[in-house]
Amino acid sequence: MSHPVAVIGAGPFGLSTAAHLKARGIPVRVFGDPMVSWRDHMPAGMLLKSTPVASSIDAPQPGHRLADYCDAAGIKRLVTDEDIIPVETFIGYGEWFRDRLVPELEQVRVVSVDRHTAGGFELKLDSGELFTARAVVVATGLSSLAHLPAELAEAVPEGPAPTGPVSHSSQEHDLTRYAGKDLIVVGAGQSALETAALAAEAGAQVRVVSRGRGKVAFGAPPWKQPRLRPESPFGRAWSLWALSSYPHPYRHLPAAARHYLVRRVLGPLGAWWLRDRFQGKVQVSEVDRIVRADASEGSPRLTVRTLAGRPEDLSADHVIAATGYRVDIAAMDFLGHGLRTRLAVSRGTPRLGAGYVSSVPGLYFTGLPAAASYGPVMRFVCGTEFASPRLAAHLAASHGQTGAPGTGRG
Ligand SMILES: Cc1cc2nc3c(=O)[nH]c(=O)nc-3n(C[C@H](O)[C@H](O)[C@H](O)COP(=O)(O)OP(=O)(O)OC[C@H]3O[C@@H](n4cnc5c(N)ncnc54)[C@H](O)[C@@H]3O)c2cc1C
Repeated sequence: MSHPVAVIGAGPFGLSTAAHLKARGIPVRVFGDPMVSWRDHMPAGMLLKSTPVASSIDAPQPGHRLADYCDAAGIKRLVTDEDIIPVETFIGYGEWFRDRLVPELEQVRVVSVDRHTAGGFELKLDSGELFTARAVVVATGLSSLAHLPAELAEAVPEGPAPTGPVSHSSQEHDLTRYAGKDLIVVGAGQSALETAALAAEAGAQVRVVSRGRGKVAFGAPPWKQPRLRPESPFGRAWSLWALSSYPHPYRHLPAAARHYLVRRVLGPLGAWWLRDRFQGKVQVSEVDRIVRADASEGSPRLTVRTLAGRPEDLSADHVIAATGYRVDIAAMDFLGHGLRTRLAVSRGTPRLGAGYVSSVPGLYFTGLPAAASYGPVMRFVCGTEFASPRLAAHLAASHGQTGAPGTGRG
């Protein structure tokens, strides 16, 4: 069949996968808004938590690492663990990678994907075009997966929004809008803590509300990491090293263990460089849980249960829920009903086999939706190094394309 492969997504995973497929001589059509999650759904002025060594988008050819981009752009070479990457630099890197390796990217939305009666898949684009693809790679990343806990969602039946009483952190880009306002940020992960610090620096009075005692914490700086443990892209620890170096056996673990590890490994912990910008500038309320949220009088009020078990009300001008992302096939509404009902899933996530293929032959998932099968490394840019060559090799082998380049990573 001479139809192209459709890659849906133009973030780090979609661009990397497309580059690997192209290097094997496989015709591709690639769709998406390049680096949009980083440009529009993360705060301006953000710094990456991942270190330079863990922040390259994998390419089949040498010369496309973050350091190569720094050289080409004439900016300071970001290479050591102490070099911190501004989000604007990372966006520039992604766009440079796209220009060099995936210039044919089509900035259109895929509206639907269904199985084609004659084999392969039928895709509908928002330009109105219909076309047939021999295989489809879903690399839609964070899109449509923002998670708002039920107790916060109740307060905003019309949905979260920066202009309403409650928003999700993915909707916040310019935090200067909260200058002079009282702001509550719910969460204890890097996104919550950095959003809080940036808003405080912009002139907001900020309180972080987090569940559990001692959850607001920061990692050790590189020079204080234990030397006797192996290095991993996420810091020195045996568990992190194993999960990032050997994602292969992950999908054979029991489902409960896989889902637990994806949630917990590299869970809430602020970056080492954020501590000084946060402490003393942002208030912290550690609570047992948020019982309910109410915004019936315009501004939001959270009723929390304190660690001592007492109810307490916290009010603000606005609440930002930095409560993360949850993979749920049901939220990927571009996947046609027929496809979704045929997909084997585990707690809403697609069950993937070798080479990132789902239970529907020819339908692949990479990035965050693949984390329940290949481990927490898939939540991060460095996961492209493991995923992209393997996905491309599997797709080439299953679709009769044997002109593989020697990537040396079997
Ligand atoms: C605040 C925050 C900070 C982070 N910091 C780091 C960090 O420091 N280091 C790190 O490694 N990771 C970090 N991450 C995780 C990071 O976002 C992911 O690793 C990465 O973006 C995943 O890339 P992706 O290509 O899978 O998806 P995304 O970057 O989310 O890209 C999704 C792509 O899919 C496209 N798309 C979606 N739906 C459609 C459709 N229907 N049709 C066509 N195109 C579509 C979009 O246009 C976009 O191009 C952070 C995440 C957040 C939220």
